[in-house]
Amino acid sequence: MTDIIIVRYGELALKSTGVRNWYERKLVKNIAAMLNLRDVKYSQITREWGRIFVHTTDPGAARAVADVFGVVSTSPAIVSNAAIGDAAKVCADIGENIIEKGESFAIRARRTGNHSFSSRDIGTKCGDAVWERLESVGHDPSVNLTDPDKEIFVEMRQTRAYIFTKIFKGVGGLPLGTQGKMVALVSGGIDSPVSAWLMMKRGVKIIPVYCDNEPFSDGTTRERAMECIKILADWAPGHTLKVYEVPHGENLAAFLADCNKKNTCLLCRRTMYREAFEIMKNEGASGIITGASLGQVASQTSANMYAEIYELGIPLYHPLIGLDKTEIIDIANRIGTFNTSIKPATCCTAVPDYPEVKAKCDALALEEQNVNIEGLVADSVSKAKFIRINSLIK
Ligand code: ATP
Ligand code: MG
Repeated sequence: MTDIIIVRYGELALKSTGVRNWYERKLVKNIAAMLNLRDVKYSQITREWGRIFVHTTDPGAARAVADVFGVVSTSPAIVSNAAIGDAAKVCADIGENIIEKGESFAIRARRTGNHSFSSRDIGTKCGDAVWERLESVGHDPSVNLTDPDKEIFVEMRQTRAYIFTKIFKGVGGLPLGTQGKMVALVSGGIDSPVSAWLMMKRGVKIIPVYCDNEPFSDGTTRERAMECIKILADWAPGHTLKVYEVPHGENLAAFLADCNKKNTCLLCRRTMYREAFEIMKNEGASGIITGASLGQVASQTSANMYAEIYELGIPLYHPLIGLDKTEIIDIANRIGTFNTSIKPATCCTAVPDYPEVKAKCDALALEEQNVNIEGLVADSVSKAKFIRINSLIK
């Protein structure tokens, strides 16, 4: 039985009252959108100092809300009056239901507000009630406060008590939409969707950008990227994602024709950054996210990464930079992009046999003098197309 879902959030509690109010309102909106996306019925969402409550009898709501950025944990709970007797009765009912013969139990009590009793009193009285009930149905009850088989939590607040047994770990982070907008370079491989997601988790609204290398890659790569972006959109219900596709193949052709082959990949990426930068400025966004992880592939050495941004002054974020591939794969599985990212897609045919692994910092800037880089970037960006994705609109 469930009356309500308790929603706990973390870092918000550290903010000043005004900021906190704004964050909480965003969080409530995002929770409502997630419940709509997952088809969970609820009557209202209320706020009380330090907590959000979703009024619903659907215990599945707790899992849906745990997937909203900013949520630390959730619990489906039964509500009683803020009186020990009432809470104890609920504890006894729950205890009878969940504690098997021979199992030990513990009451975990907390209290906020003004009451004539302490949280210790709650623990003792509720424990007694459970004990008596178990005895009355022929169990041989035992309390174990250090390692109980079953726990019953009582959270006593000013006017109500909340009694629950489950705590679902939330995704954490900050409410989506509280940390501005950034362009996310999404290739559809394993890494870039994870990097975009990690920044979404920190509250950033993303503008996904896919650079289309056709004729050096084909539709399979594009479709994979778009499928990943749709999965990311499901983490952002209530927010519309503006997704850009930038034609990038002509730039590759220019580098192959006029630059040293070993630099093709680095020039390609530097140009993606330039394109993303133009889109970032047009969109009033304030950063660019990539899926780079130090040393993961030949191109991602620190020397190459420096050359790729040399003198560009671009605000780049690499949230995966210190993660191992296994750690990235764990997140990809958790967020649901892994199986899409490993779908077969054609590799870029412009990749050289012997790519540069230790570019001089100014090497790419010098190479760019062999092509009309500003013209190429302006042309690609002017030909970019965009679509809007909203996970609530099927
Ligand atoms: P991923 O797994 O995301 O494809 P990767 O480890 O294979 O990344 P690279 O191919 O070297 O690494 O690309 C580094 C980053 O550059 C990517 O994570 C992504 O952010 C960006 N990127 C690469 N190719 C594209 C593309 N076609 N469109 C948009 N961004 C791209
Ligand atoms: Mg890749």
